[in-house]
Amino acid sequence: MKASASPTEIARETLRLLTARKLVPTPENYLSIYNEVAGNDQTGFTPNQAIQNIIHALPKASTKQARIAANLEKLAQEHHWREVGQALGEVVRATALQADNKPWPPLLLELVKHWALPHAGLTQKHKTEELQKAFEGAGDNVLELYNNIHVMLQNWSEIPLTKQSLTFTEEHDKATAVKMDKAHSEDMAVCAKLVQQIIKNGLAQQLEHAPELKEAALQLSDTASLCLSMNDFRQLESKLKSFWMRLAIEEQTHMAVQEGLLRLLRLLIDNITELLSDDQWLKSQLVLLRSLTNQHINLELIENAERNITEIIYKQGLLKHSLNEARSTMKNMLTMFIERLGSLSTSTGEHHKKLDRYAKQIRQTEDIRKLHDLLDELLHETGGIQLDMVRSHEDLSNMRKRVDEAHERIRNLESELEHIGEKVREDQLTSAFNRRGLASEFERESARASRNGSPLCLAMLDIDNFKALNDTYGHKVGDDALLHLVSVMQSVLRPSDIIARYGGEEFVILLTDTPLNESIKIITRVQRQLTKQFFLHNNERMLITFSAGITTVNPLEPQEVAIERADQAMYEAKHTGKNRVVAARPVAENP
Ligand code: GH3
Ligand code: MG
Ligand code: MG
Repeated sequence: MKASASPTEIARETLRLLTARKLVPTPENYLSIYNEVAGNDQTGFTPNQAIQNIIHALPKASTKQARIAANLEKLAQEHHWREVGQALGEVVRATALQADNKPWPPLLLELVKHWALPHAGLTQKHKTEELQKAFEGAGDNVLELYNNIHVMLQNWSEIPLTKQSLTFTEEHDKATAVKMDKAHSEDMAVCAKLVQQIIKNGLAQQLEHAPELKEAALQLSDTASLCLSMNDFRQLESKLKSFWMRLAIEEQTHMAVQEGLLRLLRLLIDNITELLSDDQWLKSQLVLLRSLTNQHINLELIENAERNITEIIYKQGLLKHSLNEARSTMKNMLTMFIERLGSLSTSTGEHHKKLDRYAKQIRQTEDIRKLHDLLDELLHETGGIQLDMVRSHEDLSNMRKRVDEAHERIRNLESELEHIGEKVREDQLTSAFNRRGLASEFERESARASRNGSPLCLAMLDIDNFKALNDTYGHKVGDDALLHLVSVMQSVLRPSDIIARYGGEEFVILLTDTPLNESIKIITRVQRQLTKQFFLHNNERMLITFSAGITTVNPLEPQEVAIERADQAMYEAKHTGKNRVVAARPVAENP
């Protein structure tokens, strides 16, 4: 039949063929013949079949989906087309909704997670196969792909995990693992070598000053070179951790030693400078040295300092040399004096004998004081001697003058040398600073306070009724009480505070970086501590109290001025009942 035939002609021909072929006139048969006549290429394919195909293709991954599909199939078989249409419409709507809203990111995260997890009996190969199946089963259907993967992951999540990170059960996987292991252990070896070199060349070499730590570092570098697995590295890590701690402590100690040495050096310089007040040359060298030690220390500065100290030592050598020289000059002059006396004297042999004895004593003695005494004695002895000539007499008095000068020079030199070696800043009994130490500490702390704009306070303490304690129990007990007070103060004050013994039972405290109200609290705390930490004498508890005056140290004011203010306040404390802390009235800034 021609394609241009009208629907009426096609219908008529269809009915003719139905009769001719003796077919039952069902809608399907009619449609089939109609398509044939109309030339439509739909031979044998009915809407029923199309619907069946759709139903067949519905997802059945979940039980709900399977139930819907089964229901639809049943409805179609029974030709309930209206219900089929409704149910299919719902499925299509739900599917469209689902396809849009499928939470792919969490699914993919799950997949990655499960991929790496060691499921018992589920090899990587199995996993790959299952995933391939999920893809193949879904074809182009993204929704089905989603469902397939989802179901697959649900199944996997029910499988228990093994302890190993990966389960290789098959030959292929084992081979892969071996290959991976090889590459992995090559990486490990490179890392181990690197770590070993860093520890050995970078770290151990820096530890020349701490032989024990250096040894420990070298051992660690050996351990590092033997690391073959992550486990080895983890063990190395924990060893390294404790090593870092030791290193940090060592570093601190090292720094503290350096700082301590520097402080010692400054102390030495300060005191030498003070003691050599008349020696400008030496003083200027020391000032230079002091300024060097106040800077951030480096090797060059240390070398400079070393040079300077060498010069000082040389100067001291000269000092000693001139001392010996002065001493022998004096001896020579004394000897000459006696000889002259002998030759000038008109006295008896008895007198000569005496002079001989003096001459012998002078030769034997090295002690300058004894020499001086001998000279005095001699002059006394020879006082009555008649001297022949006036000129000779003048000679003798000149000589006596020169001897005296030499003696004076020797005394000065000796005291200079004595003081250089003495502990010049410390109180002998309590080891607190003495006045000299306080003076230099004050200078430093007040300069620091002005520089930093930080508060500095000065407290003057005087033990109450100390004379009575001495009188009742003796001087030794008094001394012990002083020691006790210093130790209590040390326990309450901070290490940065300065404790100095100012006089017999008077102490000056410098409270660094502390405002007045805080300083009052701190000194009051010392008082309280004395009532807890008793001074024991023959197991008898003795309460020591003190009165204190405290003042703020004003920038650039001399020590004496601040001490005077604190002293006034301390006296106020004494007069208003003792065992008290009184703050000095602040100085008006614009009087
Ligand atoms: P106040 O409460 O007014 O301060 O009375 P005080 O008795 O403490 O003061 P005073 O100044 O009258 O006496 C101080 C005494 O301190 C006199 C002296 O015997 C004693 N003293 C000074 N230095 C030392 C020392 O180094 N050791 C001992 N044991 N006693 C000392
Ligand atoms: Mg006193
Ligand atoms: Mg006193």
